[in-house]
Amino acid sequence: MTMQRRYRRGDTGPAVAEIRSKLVLLGLLPAGAHAVHGTGDTDGHGGYADAVFDDSVDLAVRHFQQQRAMTVDGVVGPETYRHLDEARWRLGDRMLSYSIGHPTVGDDVATLQQRLLDMGFDCGRVDGILGPATERALREFQRNYGLGADGTCGPATFRALDRLARTVVGGQPHAMRESELLHRSGPSLAGKTVVIDPGHGGTDQGVTAHGLTEAEIVWDLARRLEGRLSALGVQAYLTRGLDSDGIGEEERAAFANATDADLVISLHADRNESPRAAGVSSYYYGSGSDRYGRRSPTGEHFASLVQRELVARTGMVDGRTHGKAWTLLRRTRMPAVRIEVGYLTNAEDAARLASSEFRDHAAESVVVALQRLYLPPEEDVPTGMLRLPVFT
Ligand SMILES: [Zn+2]
Repeated sequence: MTMQRRYRRGDTGPAVAEIRSKLVLLGLLPAGAHAVHGTGDTDGHGGYADAVFDDSVDLAVRHFQQQRAMTVDGVVGPETYRHLDEARWRLGDRMLSYSIGHPTVGDDVATLQQRLLDMGFDCGRVDGILGPATERALREFQRNYGLGADGTCGPATFRALDRLARTVVGGQPHAMRESELLHRSGPSLAGKTVVIDPGHGGTDQGVTAHGLTEAEIVWDLARRLEGRLSALGVQAYLTRGLDSDGIGEEERAAFANATDADLVISLHADRNESPRAAGVSSYYYGSGSDRYGRRSPTGEHFASLVQRELVARTGMVDGRTHGKAWTLLRRTRMPAVRIEVGYLTNAEDAARLASSEFRDHAAESVVVALQRLYLPPEEDVPTGMLRLPVFT
């Protein structure tokens, strides 16, 4: 079942029954308690139609979102629903094999990837998506351990994985691989490919406040960034045009993957019910709540560089960096960082974002952070000191 609309506290119906049963399966909701209103008649649609998204469901959804490093809002939309679906799979529950164009996704795949990495088989990062790199690593593992190298994870492979898991100590091979890739590509920005993703667009204007719209601001910022990067010899691609409409996060990620970029920079502006919420924050792919390496170390590093430069060069409040499992961050094969450049709902932030001088500083901050990312550590200089020849 695919879920198009968003469900929240107070909603009822079959979709809510489905959400409840998934939460029960995950141990986040007690079975049976207040599952339906009325007579408890659950045979046929009559009973399930009465399932209620009540306070206990709201709490369980928030708990789940927190665990999975998603936005915690208690609302089940397509993304949360997909995660609920993925979370129920344990390694061994089903056969796993690579299917072109329709990859298997789930927590069992993530466990498989972690096991493969622990044993030194490079399947890329742990993202729970069975893609070609995971299949290659799986075949390699099977070949090494005298199993039929068919790339399918069935009973014999599960048993072998289980046996070996106890003897192998986990490491961070993926972290090493990412940083190897980073340094192999050399210290110069020229020749790099960067995808710039201005959020929203078209009929989706994002946050609107203080006479500003998020879609327009991030578009303008993206163009300034694109100009600077191009001048430095970077091939920069934008995920959308000025008026492009209806481009989802999955499509943006697919676009970035197709360009085989070195890095993705997604630009957004934030909102909050409190007009006092202010500042800039940067997000990378990562889930803080589990011991496995579900994070992009380069993404995390770049996020901290961007954050540092933005705060130092613009004087914005430091909203710090955070690991998130948002679709764009997760589905891109290269490190990706999403920057929330300020709160449009905050008067001071809005005034800053309205100024073209501020946007120039913001764009320059991102470019300097990028420059730093590719500098060997010994050549790094204190924040605020690095000047790019082209723009001073
Ligand atoms: Zn946004």
